Amino acid sequence: VRGLFVGRFQPFHGGHLAVVERIRAERPEAELLVAIGSAEQSFTWENPFTAGERFEMIERALEEAGVARVAIVPVADIQRHAQWVRYLEGLLPAFDRVYSRNRLTELLFERAGYRVERHPLVARARYEGVRIRRALARDRGWRGAVPPAVAGFLTEIEAPRRLRLLASGARGAPAPGGRR
Ligand code: NAD
Repeated sequence: VRGLFVGRFQPFHGGHLAVVERIRAERPEAELLVAIGSAEQSFTWENPFTAGERFEMIERALEEAGVARVAIVPVADIQRHAQWVRYLEGLLPAFDRVYSRNRLTELLFERAGYRVERHPLVARARYEGVRIRRALARDRGWRGAVPPAVAGFLTEIEAPRRLRLLASGARGAPAPGGRR
């Protein structure tokens, strides 16, 4: 038995960590696959971090939190949504349960006959990718929204500088000067 949790993790935040901890505690006998979606994307406002950077964030956060039996797997997007689940089945070891709150992900897996669990959202006002990316671009108020190990990593790779650059002209990004 294995579970699958798919996300972009741009960046891996406290809500993602809480979901992983909950899944592992609920089914301790089952390994969990954390699939890094849109693995081919990086250096854009929506997907600022490479798959490798996201891998490191997740690995460090899980180690810090003492979460074991999690395999991290990068997965590139494909153009055809209708084929996506079959494509994942060909890439990953067998899994029997999928965890998601992404509507399209839920729909595609349910259509393929999988049991999909809609995990609760954790402190969404604080733990939301786009909010954290905006905070990074302003370099203000983002540290508390990610696990400490991720905050350290984001500082190491100068994430605020990258997000400030990617924000210029992007929809939903703060305008230059720090205002939204
Ligand atoms: P995400 O990082 O935004 O979210 C990952 C998961 O974490 C989601 O289930 C989300 O609901 C959950 N989450 C976010 N904040 C939370 C919080 N505060 N508390 C609890 N849970 C929280 O990633 P996403 O955009 O949902 O990732 C889906 C991935 O699947 C994307 O990479 C997408 O491209 C990919 N996908 C690809 C295809 C294809 O290639 N054809 C089709 C469908 C999906």
